[in-house]
Amino acid sequence: MKKILKHWKLSLGFLLFFAAAAMLLNFSGQLSTSIIGSEHGKPFYRHTLNIIIDDAHGSDVAGKGSPDGRHKEYLWSQFWCTELQKHLRDIDYTTNYNAPEETEPGLLTRVRRMNKVPAPAIVFSWHNNAAGMGDVWKEAHGYSIWTTRGTTMSDTCATIIFNNLRTFLPDLAFRQDLSDGDPDYESNFTVLMSKHPSVLLEFMFQDNDFDLQLLENPALCRTILLILDVSFLQIEQVLCSTKKQAA
Ligand SMILES: [Zn+2]
Repeated sequence: MKKILKHWKLSLGFLLFFAAAAMLLNFSGQLSTSIIGSEHGKPFYRHTLNIIIDDAHGSDVAGKGSPDGRHKEYLWSQFWCTELQKHLRDIDYTTNYNAPEETEPGLLTRVRRMNKVPAPAIVFSWHNNAAGMGDVWKEAHGYSIWTTRGTTMSDTCATIIFNNLRTFLPDLAFRQDLSDGDPDYESNFTVLMSKHPSVLLEFMFQDNDFDLQLLENPALCRTILLILDVSFLQIEQVLCSTKKQAA
């Protein structure tokens, strides 16, 4: 892991290169994102994808923290989901922060709100994992990405995010389930059940001592934000490209 912390600037360089390549591709006119001049001559992006950011739990959901009490999943998730929203708005995406209240609105309410957002949209739900009930330190570690059962566009979106995390942070521990031909795990979590393609990122274990240090490392978490920025540009191309729609 020290390697990651040492080389995170290098990872950022790769990311920027990757993002620049994605921008250039967009000028081909086949893709869903473009940079166009405004009336006042200022460039801005034009997107077609709506991004629904779904944070983890509310302050009133029991457990969901580290055994020593220093980490609360809802606080971590609200903070980094808010940062992600700022990133995505900075590049002109339309975002919906699905559960802005501090307490839990209820899983079905979350899904109802998601279904009110017009397509094309993607749901991104961002959690921390736990191996136990939050009272004892555990051994399980690493990140994993989840979709509903079966093969849908959600699997394609999940694979984009997973592959980017593996590419840019190869030393970061991960978990994968290759039994159905892709790296994501599958479970019909309620927040993955709206009408939109949906992925849930379980980012590291809050009841693993080393993973918790990673969750508390702002350089790493900011790198994850950049990886997500690039991933959403790619996901938009897959979900919204004019070529795809015409096919
Ligand atoms: Zn959670």
